[in-house]
Amino acid sequence: MALEIIRIPVLSDNYIWLVHEPVSGETMVVDPAVADAPLAEAEKRGWKITQIWNTHWHPDHTGGNADIKTATGCHITGPAAESARIPTLDTMVQEGGTARLGDVVGNVIDVPAHTAGHIAFHIPSENALFIGDTLFAMGCGRLFEGTPAQMFDNMRKLEALPDETAVYCAHEYTMSNGQFALTVEPENTALVERMKAVETMRNRGEATVPTSIALEKATNPFMRAASIDELAARRAAKDAA
Ligand code: FE
Ligand code: ZN
Repeated sequence: MALEIIRIPVLSDNYIWLVHEPVSGETMVVDPAVADAPLAEAEKRGWKITQIWNTHWHPDHTGGNADIKTATGCHITGPAAESARIPTLDTMVQEGGTARLGDVVGNVIDVPAHTAGHIAFHIPSENALFIGDTLFAMGCGRLFEGTPAQMFDNMRKLEALPDETAVYCAHEYTMSNGQFALTVEPENTALVERMKAVETMRNRGEATVPTSIALEKATNPFMRAASIDELAARRAAKDAA
């Protein structure tokens, strides 16, 4: 692995990802809900934050932008379609574009639906995907600014990535997602086994992300929905649960 990726739990269930590239010495923060925790974590490790990458405009993903930029002078990259709602952006990207940490390249993927301009960063050389609030362990983001058809398309893009891709989600929603998934597919043995492991981990206070594309293909009821209508019905049922 060329990158060191550190998980920082903040607020009630957010994860901020602090990512260090040792060759260039660059360090970035993905979706900083707050500034103090990633600044302290970087300082502790002797790293200087040089970049922020944002997946979408929600305050629990961008709230730390301004203070981190003031403290470090870092460069901020985020979704072009949401630039009006993220005034701190320096570089605006969309599908087909890239972001770089040193020589490590992240490909931008458009994944609209949770928000209208939501993007993800896929780093093929690291098998890493920073997905924000589009895909969670056994779940997906709520459809605040998009449609079931868009989320269905997102799932097709994500399941096409290599199975071993590590998926860095922005929230610890695994337990509630898994409990819902079991109501959808009670006979799915991969899901039943996964939830046993998740319960053990959560009882010990452990994080359950990153997940992987392979695990989500086997257990995620939104990735596994066979049609747009099925995804829509599952999303509506989860919202009401
Ligand atoms: Fe969000
Ligand atoms: Zn969020």
